[in-house]
Amino acid sequence: MKREKALVVFSGGQDSTTCLFWALKHFREVHTITFAYGQKHNLEVEAAKKIACMAGVDFHLVDITQIASVGKNSLTDGSMVMDSEKPAGSPPNTFVPGRNLFFLSIAAVYAREKGICDIVTGVSQTDFSGYPDCRDSFIRSLNVTLNLAMDGQFVIHTPLMWIDKAQTWALADRLGVFELVRDETVTCYNGVKGDGCGHCPACRLRNAGLHKYLENKDEVLKSLEIHNF
Ligand code: ZN
Repeated sequence: MKREKALVVFSGGQDSTTCLFWALKHFREVHTITFAYGQKHNLEVEAAKKIACMAGVDFHLVDITQIASVGKNSLTDGSMVMDSEKPAGSPPNTFVPGRNLFFLSIAAVYAREKGICDIVTGVSQTDFSGYPDCRDSFIRSLNVTLNLAMDGQFVIHTPLMWIDKAQTWALADRLGVFELVRDETVTCYNGVKGDGCGHCPACRLRNAGLHKYLENKDEVLKSLEIHNF
């Protein structure tokens, strides 16, 4: 049985687009919220808007570009050279400090306004690129904090938390949106749509997962079964 309403934190990338269609399968009414956080490539926001329109869901854009004025990272600062590997002992400089904390906090305020308790985010601990705010412990902790902060009944859903990129492709395929995710999303840190620039860390992770999935489709699809999608 479908649950009532959900809000998807939506970037227009592979993960959140897969989550959007996961939410459409499980909820009667789905809304999206997208953040402009000073990312160098506005194409991401354009892709999110287009996909929300294709999916027939409400699209709400929030400008939080001030985040780029208080914390430095290579996704918002064009003068920084992007780390291609995770340095020992710290997250790569593509990490936007506080990003998921801000996104989910603002999403919860918006959800409350819309009478929505269920919030969906595409973070994954399995392929988390060294970003601490993609870990399950952070999401659980924030879920408690948001409920305390707003006397709420929020439930943060993380369908991708325990699956890898190859399984995320398999999930998109099972949801019937493999082509849409492959062609219309922007995951690339250089803002190139679809298969991307091919060499930035986000493209390498996405493409490695794609090849693994295409080479072992049956096996990867089968591995999804234990996750109860
Ligand atoms: Zn790229």
